[in-house]
Amino acid sequence: MNTHNSQLTTHNSEDTIVALATPNGIGAIAVIRLSGLDAIAIANSVWKGKDLTKQASHTIHFGHIVDGDLVLDEVLASLFVAPKSYTRENVVEISCHASGYIIESIIKLFIKKGARSAKPGEFTLRAFLNGQLDLSQAEAVADLIASNSKASQQVALQQLRGGFSTQLQLLREQLVNFASLIELELDFAEEDVEFANRDQLKNLIHEITKIVGRLIQSFELGNAIKNGVNTVIAGRPNAGKSTLLNALLNEERAIVSHIPGTTRDTIEEVLNIQGINFRLIDTAGIREATDAIEQIGVQRTMEKISQSALLVYVFDATEITIEELNSDIESLQKPGITMLLVANKMDLLESESPEDRKSESLASGKIQNIGDFFRTSGLPDFRTISISAKEKQHIDELKQKIYSSAIKDQLSGDETLVTNIRHLEALQKTEEALIRVLGGIDGSITSDFLSMDIKQSLHYLGEITGVVTTDDLLENIFSKFCIGK
Ligand code: GDP
Repeated sequence: MNTHNSQLTTHNSEDTIVALATPNGIGAIAVIRLSGLDAIAIANSVWKGKDLTKQASHTIHFGHIVDGDLVLDEVLASLFVAPKSYTRENVVEISCHASGYIIESIIKLFIKKGARSAKPGEFTLRAFLNGQLDLSQAEAVADLIASNSKASQQVALQQLRGGFSTQLQLLREQLVNFASLIELELDFAEEDVEFANRDQLKNLIHEITKIVGRLIQSFELGNAIKNGVNTVIAGRPNAGKSTLLNALLNEERAIVSHIPGTTRDTIEEVLNIQGINFRLIDTAGIREATDAIEQIGVQRTMEKISQSALLVYVFDATEITIEELNSDIESLQKPGITMLLVANKMDLLESESPEDRKSESLASGKIQNIGDFFRTSGLPDFRTISISAKEKQHIDELKQKIYSSAIKDQLSGDETLVTNIRHLEALQKTEEALIRVLGGIDGSITSDFLSMDIKQSLHYLGEITGVVTTDDLLENIFSKFCIGK
């Protein structure tokens, strides 16, 4: 097993790196960050003010950045002396005026004095290499920057604070203990002794597999929180999809018309329900495609639906026949996609007398009673609802059902959630290795094979926090960061 320090050949921690840490563009203030052995000396060499090399850590100083006689800007310099900084190196943050010209001039000046441009994510890479953060925490930094809802921010923050890492660390420690006992057995192979009690080992592996399994399962929710849930609103022309979209978003965004299929603009909206972003995908496209359900088939609708996790199927409860409804449900259903049936225009049904409805439905094959229909449809209660999009009746209830259809587990707040596909894959490989260990114990395989499988699971667990890593992996992770982070 390799540790990250021995593997990193490209990293040169002697370099002092520089980058703009705030967004490019005009603003009140921009922050330029320097990190490395010479950070303070380099800043001081273009500084008019107190001698920065003689100041204490965590202090802020007013002064000027000068290029020879030329004053570039009036700035504040924040000092962080190693190891008490984000990167654990000497760090200087210059808060200057956010003019493209000033920023560029200051950065060029620092480079002239010996710094080099930082690569994307290089500050965080250094924080990782210097032991400030583990890999999953470093990834949480990127997630935190990208977070766009309360839930995604909370999950990223929990990961950054090490919630996930602590849990993995505990699992690893337990496994390491057993692995070393089994290694010991290998040393005494001839004497046929068992230092590691097999029943205890089995219990432990069961426990760990359970925890790993829970973490794997949490990805569904974690992923929904981080990336949102792709949601399609589909239904026949005039079912009320645009009206429903407006009611959900609470604004008059889509064009509502009486003529079927007149909404042709692409609408992509994000609906936030309890902190989860539901991305309503190209519903205009679905509208066009659903025209085709009756005519040329469902291919395009199906393509859209297959990219989604949730399908909100809307139908006009006053018009659709049971036959049409059943055929739509059948053709739209796909494995892996949750379907929510929404009976719309209930306001019209309520104004009709039950007797009239009964005789009409008998004559036309239309649905007589939505409640009865839903009860016999075989779908669980949370997947069906009756609303009036136009009168905005039961819209909040619908939102609640959209949420519970997509998110089966509730957010408890302190639970560890896996949000990262890399972590998910490592956990799945860990689980496979653990299952092999269990099978091995039952099959009484020899200590050396057991030891190998335990090491495998340790390896994959270690990949998550970066105890085990390769340059490729680091490159892959940190190149996705922005420059200056
Ligand atoms: P789409 O083709 O599925 O997008 O359907 P629209 O949203 O354009 O609605 C078609 C027609 O049905 C419009 O005249 C809407 O005002 C009407 N409509 C939609 N929802 C309701 C509802 O809940 N009750 C009533 N009475 N009419 C509705």
